[in-house]
Amino acid sequence: MALSSLIGFSYVVSAALFIIGLKMLGSPATARRGNTLSAIGMLIAVVVTLLDQGIVDFRYIAIAVAIGAVIGAVAARRVAMTSMPEMVALFNGFGGIASLLVGWAAIAPDAGGIVLTTIFLSILIGGVTFTGSLVAYGKLSEIMPGKPLMFKGQAVVNSAVIIAIFVAGYLFVQQPENLSYLYAAIALAVVFGVLVVIPIGGADMPVVISLLNSYSGLAACAAGFAINNNLLIVAGSLVGASGIILTNIMCKAMNRSLSNVLFSGFSKVKSMDMKIEGEVKPITADDAFYVLEAASTVAIIPGYGMAVAQAQHAVKELQELLEENGAEVIYGIHPVAGRMPGHMNVLLAEADVSYDLLLEMDDINPRMETVDVAIVIGANDVVNPAAREMEGSPIYGMPVINVDKARTVFVLKRSMASGFAGIDNPLFFKENTRMVFGDAKETLSHLIREFG
Ligand code: NDP
Repeated sequence: MALSSLIGFSYVVSAALFIIGLKMLGSPATARRGNTLSAIGMLIAVVVTLLDQGIVDFRYIAIAVAIGAVIGAVAARRVAMTSMPEMVALFNGFGGIASLLVGWAAIAPDAGGIVLTTIFLSILIGGVTFTGSLVAYGKLSEIMPGKPLMFKGQAVVNSAVIIAIFVAGYLFVQQPENLSYLYAAIALAVVFGVLVVIPIGGADMPVVISLLNSYSGLAACAAGFAINNNLLIVAGSLVGASGIILTNIMCKAMNRSLSNVLFSGFSKVKSMDMKIEGEVKPITADDAFYVLEAASTVAIIPGYGMAVAQAQHAVKELQELLEENGAEVIYGIHPVAGRMPGHMNVLLAEADVSYDLLLEMDDINPRMETVDVAIVIGANDVVNPAAREMEGSPIYGMPVINVDKARTVFVLKRSMASGFAGIDNPLFFKENTRMVFGDAKETLSHLIREFG
């Protein structure tokens, strides 16, 4: 087989592995294998691409691969589960700068207008992704203040920078031999990346991360056109499309539009003067135990507080004790519970909770009326019935897990404090709700001791 046919064939195999791998990421049961398959696809792609190129000395490539592999492996092993969004931000940033450099390197004296345009796009999107991701990383890791940074005339400055970028891009495509236009485009793109992300803050950051992920794919796609590499185009499109789908899912689950996230700056919605009726009924863990002991169906709804308390192992232990006691235990997972997509799934998988027990919101809600006890572990917004009942509430219309429909609800949290959305929760005042105040892990350990 001619080398070019071998490469073409291998690219098709790699693309198929990417697509199958991506599909398998859709379920926690197959996600690991999906990841491995995609990684094999990438390995095949890299190896066959190198067969074709006699340009770079293989020794340099080997050194770069070794350094990259060591840094990647160490970082992946060390990263705490709660720091995953930061890690993903950095990955996106590296993807962006790689596309920028590939685009830059593809500039050739005989390049035509179309190739030059794709080079400009890979530089523009790659540059924005690079600095945008670094700012996102800084905010998430608290190296920078996490608050949205807004200033007067921000929209005007942003618009001026966008216009300047496209003017520089146009001039670069017209006169590629004059490198000052290229440098201007690069400089403006990296500045724009900073400008795009600074007004976003708070818990909106994960949406930005998935959007930047999508951008890194688009940048790779543009770089693929610039160097005429089909597989880079395919891989870039897959990342671009899946990133934008995820962004959309997250925005929907938060009942916000993407433009609202991007342009309005995250500000805590002030606690509205909602007339909440009823009184708060605290209960001790000892008393909660007696109710749980008699329950035959228990639903566990975890939220951000479970991640903070690192209570996932205690949750699993309680689940097993309840099951030994004859109860059926199911979990209700809201799409935006926690602070990143799949946050709860990842934590529960770490504690070896069986995937079959994890029900998505739409599957658990119809069953809620048959549940004896719903245990809400550090969740707040995702179980707030105001989303259903209080027109005018900032979260009105957001789909939530209807724990209040269960016979009894235990809410494990430390205080009456609000969650991410900063609004009161009428659930805490409902007739069938009991508040079990305290750190979620401590309360769970207490319940476990009672069962033991
Ligand atoms: P929330 O942020 O609504 O509430 C978390 C609750 O956990 C708090 O009210 C807090 O109450 C409690 N808590 C904190 N620490 C502990 C602890 N150690 N022990 C017990 N409880 C604790 O979380 P949800 O998961 O319900 O909702 C997620 C929110 O984040 C949604 O508003 C969503 O839109 C948003 N979001 C989610 C993203 C995602 O990708 N998942 C992305 C961006 C935003 P207290 O202080 O009283 O203990």
